[in-house]
Amino acid sequence: MAHTNTTRTLSFSANERNLFFHILTACNLSCRHCYINKEQHGSNTLSPQVIADWLKLFYEEDKQSNVIFLGGEPTLHPDLAFAVKTARELGYHSVTIDTNGFLHHDLLNRLTPDEAVISFSLDGPTPKVNDPIRGEGVFATCTDNIKKAVKAGFEVSVIYTASALNIEALHEMPDLLHSLGVTHFFVQVVGLRGNSVVEGKETGNFMQLSHEKWLSIVPRVVDYAARLGLRVVYPKVYLSQDEPFSCAGNVSENFFVFPNGRVYLCPLCEDYPIHTYEIMGNQLVKKDGLVEENLFSLQIPEGCVMNKLLQPGTIQYETNGTPRHRISCCLLKQEIVSQGIISQKKA
Ligand code: SF4
Ligand code: SF4
Repeated sequence: MAHTNTTRTLSFSANERNLFFHILTACNLSCRHCYINKEQHGSNTLSPQVIADWLKLFYEEDKQSNVIFLGGEPTLHPDLAFAVKTARELGYHSVTIDTNGFLHHDLLNRLTPDEAVISFSLDGPTPKVNDPIRGEGVFATCTDNIKKAVKAGFEVSVIYTASALNIEALHEMPDLLHSLGVTHFFVQVVGLRGNSVVEGKETGNFMQLSHEKWLSIVPRVVDYAARLGLRVVYPKVYLSQDEPFSCAGNVSENFFVFPNGRVYLCPLCEDYPIHTYEIMGNQLVKKDGLVEENLFSLQIPEGCVMNKLLQPGTIQYETNGTPRHRISCCLLKQEIVSQGIISQKKA
């Protein structure tokens, strides 16, 4: 029987509000591509009271409000379970914890599976690929805890940050995730922020993926993953000629909140003090002067204006100076809709 998958672009929705909530910036790991920048994001850990206050501040009753708890490593926060339960009580539609896999503070025993989705970051199908990026022994701990979370009944997803360091191993991920009982697979492209910029200044853009490399590997692997029954979401990255460009900052509500009170609308801007809002006295206060939001309405042939300003090396040009592709908003995702489930085999 033939299985034909279809791809669906997940358009931005004005009826949704997504809160990307960094409750601390401390972490037990030091990944090579870590985007946390303590100079810009602070090094404090939010108290339970502040977490509850900020969850209230961003909750919007008339929209589908979703919260993703992030760090640093959010499970290092001793009150993460309280934060999850508070979000649920307030009425957040979905609650997700993005973890590096260490699940500190006995998290699985302090939550019930209906309270949160657990999203593990894993950047390779083997210790040989994952651990040089995320740290010695991390693959073993992360996959052990994925098994425990699945066994405890949690919905488990895995995020794979694709870069030049691990793209060649992506094809081995679907079989691994399927065998671990993971249901959702998110592929994301490495952002040139934080550590990858610092290290890149010394060694060149060693993590960046070319258009050709992305297209030669990612569509084939995600298609196979979907045929195994995984729900697969991955970034659009390149727009075709007939696809419209849209900046999430203009049409949807995404708040990237850091423990020093900075609130960004665009994740690409997080290395710079151009955030649109600040939380002051539990109020969301709009900043004066040049902020990221002022740039969202600029129309350029390259697509995303922040990508052009901050990551110009990702754009390729024809000899006449026109860009070879338009770069989509980094928040624009697409999903593979599976038409059938096959048994495991290599992609
Ligand atoms: S990427 Fe995440 S897990 Fe890795 S060092 Fe940064 S905060 Fe920690
Ligand atoms: S990534 Fe580009 S298109 Fe998306 S919100 Fe930021 S500036 Fe707008």
